[in-house]
Amino acid sequence: GPLIVSFGEMLIDFVPTVSGVSLAEAPGFLKAPGGAPANVAIAVARLGGHAAFVGKLGDDEFGHMLAGILGENGVSTKGINFDLGARTALAFVTLRADGEREFMFYRNPSADMLLTPEELNLELIRSAKVFHYGSISLIVEPCRSAHLKAMEAAKEAGALLSYDPNLRLPLWPSPAEAREQIMSIWDKAEVIKVSDNELEFLTGSDKIDDAAALSLWHPNLKLLLVTLGEKGCRYYTKNFHGQVDAFNVKAVDTTGAGDAFVGALLSKIVDDQSVIEDEPRLREVLKFSNACGAITTIKKGAIPALPTTSEVLTFVKGA
Ligand code: ADP
Repeated sequence: GPLIVSFGEMLIDFVPTVSGVSLAEAPGFLKAPGGAPANVAIAVARLGGHAAFVGKLGDDEFGHMLAGILGENGVSTKGINFDLGARTALAFVTLRADGEREFMFYRNPSADMLLTPEELNLELIRSAKVFHYGSISLIVEPCRSAHLKAMEAAKEAGALLSYDPNLRLPLWPSPAEAREQIMSIWDKAEVIKVSDNELEFLTGSDKIDDAAALSLWHPNLKLLLVTLGEKGCRYYTKNFHGQVDAFNVKAVDTTGAGDAFVGALLSKIVDDQSVIEDEPRLREVLKFSNACGAITTIKKGAIPALPTTSEVLTFVKGA
């Protein structure tokens, strides 16, 4: 099938073996591969799609382990570079009592931040039918320039651009800088997915409503999605908007739900972009995407929980 290229960071999350404790109190940590763009690529591949990850890892055991995980899952690793000096990024993740996650990052700098425009695999990037990215790769140079060049090359070659800002405030010098940089590439993307929290942050509105979402609309945009966790998602196109409710599940770990949602959506759009203009078909695609998100919350961890197509179909039938 046509190729989805996902650009950005891949790292290792260290997750406490018991939940509800501070980092200092945690008795131990389990390592879990993470990084939203990498999760999206794996989500696509699990569903039977054709995906590649573009980014930089450390030339260390963690970096090679992560590349191995991509490969085992059927994601092309032809766009991966290894930095000979810097290490693979790490994040220590705490789950607060209210279920929200807090991150402490080790990136000083990490390999992903050092990707240069010169080392991009442009041949791979130009073969993408969909090019997907976040905003963490915009935070510092030289990765920021590499991100902009990759986006430009994909666009010129005719790819659909897909953007999930995936806000991680602790990584930015200030909230104002985060907002400014995230918005600096806003009007390039044709598909944008934000979470409810990101909608509030980007618009400054304390309401998650149509007016707030539509204030993010731009003329090149074809599809805007706002994910609402256990409430599902809202969708906006030039001609219509609405909501598709979530599946009712007992969530144990929501890590990666948004990435599963995006991977599912892109795996459908890459085969036939016209679903965006056809509301009944788009609603079917979003139901499928909601199902992928929901399934991901039932199991611990992001990547181990990403479903195959037959798992999604069985889940939807049983729901
Ligand atoms: P993000 O991970 O980007 O914050 P969400 O948490 O909103 O995104 O999750 C993405 C999608 O996954 C939602 O739109 C929904 O379809 C599904 N999902 C997430 N959490 C739940 C939940 N608790 N119950 C059912 N579905 C969920």
